[in-house]
Amino acid sequence: NQKVVLITGCSSGIGLALAVRLAKDEKNRFMVYATMRNLDKSEALAEAAGCTLGSTLKIKQLDVCDENSIKACVDSLPMRRVDILISNAGLGMIGPIECQSIDEMKTVMDTNFFGLMRLLKEILPDMKTRKSGHIVVISNVMRIQGILFNDIYAASKFAIEGFCESLAVQALRFNLKISIFEPGPVITEFERKVYEEGLKTDLTKADEVTADMFNNILKNYNLIFKSLGQTPEDVAEQTLKLITMKKPPFRHQTNTMYAYEDLNGDLPIETFYKMVFEQDKRKLSNRKCFRDLL
Ligand code: NAD
Repeated sequence: NQKVVLITGCSSGIGLALAVRLAKDEKNRFMVYATMRNLDKSEALAEAAGCTLGSTLKIKQLDVCDENSIKACVDSLPMRRVDILISNAGLGMIGPIECQSIDEMKTVMDTNFFGLMRLLKEILPDMKTRKSGHIVVISNVMRIQGILFNDIYAASKFAIEGFCESLAVQALRFNLKISIFEPGPVITEFERKVYEEGLKTDLTKADEVTADMFNNILKNYNLIFKSLGQTPEDVAEQTLKLITMKKPPFRHQTNTMYAYEDLNGDLPIETFYKMVFEQDKRKLSNRKCFRDLL
């Protein structure tokens, strides 16, 4: 009675940790299809999977930006069955929009938002027919918090959240579950990739004040992850708990240091401003949670 789990973006980070955690489940409850865009990058996953590779964990190619690759992957599964879809693949992007091209922005949207659309167009109809299934989407605490110079990335996660909230009502009618995971900073490749891309930003296209603000963010970028970040293994553990619940919550914030409720919407703007520009007054490391900055 194993549940079939399909996870996207498993060559690193949260996807890798999650695939391995589920495949190693003590109760053997999952058959994991760990997918990735480029199979040449499967070494780390294969190594971490150990003896589960080929038994409870199988690696498959899937590019969320390519409908054909999604169809080929789903068609290759026994009876095309996916009980739990974990949409994890994602791209980050930082910088002032003056310095970013529309094509670069489209790539982020295409991966983070339309990637989920492509997956669902292939998998949702079968789930509806079977009247069972769980869709888990790795979003970001940024669905309630736009973060300075993460404008396009935050927008892509806001888009996902609005979409899922709309779909959730329909899902109820078909007995399907939808859960959105909202991590704060997680220490993965993501941070490095986004930081390195950020360093390459052509700031000559931005005015002096904007360029200065962005350089300030870059300087503190790693510190934010170091002081507030959680491990991908921790996110994986929480995901395991969530997918085994009878009634999983629609939203779940994974990082207690970062979680908050924002009543009037001012909190992220003020807090982030303080985190970046008034750090000398309040040392990041002396805080127990994000809210302590206010
Ligand atoms: P990561 O960079 O290690 O993982 C992202 C994965 O997505 C990579 O393996 C990458 O190859 C894959 N990917 C990118 N484009 C793809 C495509 N077209 N098709 C298939 N796979 C593709 O970073 P991560 O932190 O593990 O990120 C996983 C998810 O968690 C992302 O959706 C990210 O937005 C979200 N998230 C990350 C953080 C963080 O701080 N690291 C915080 C909140 C949410």
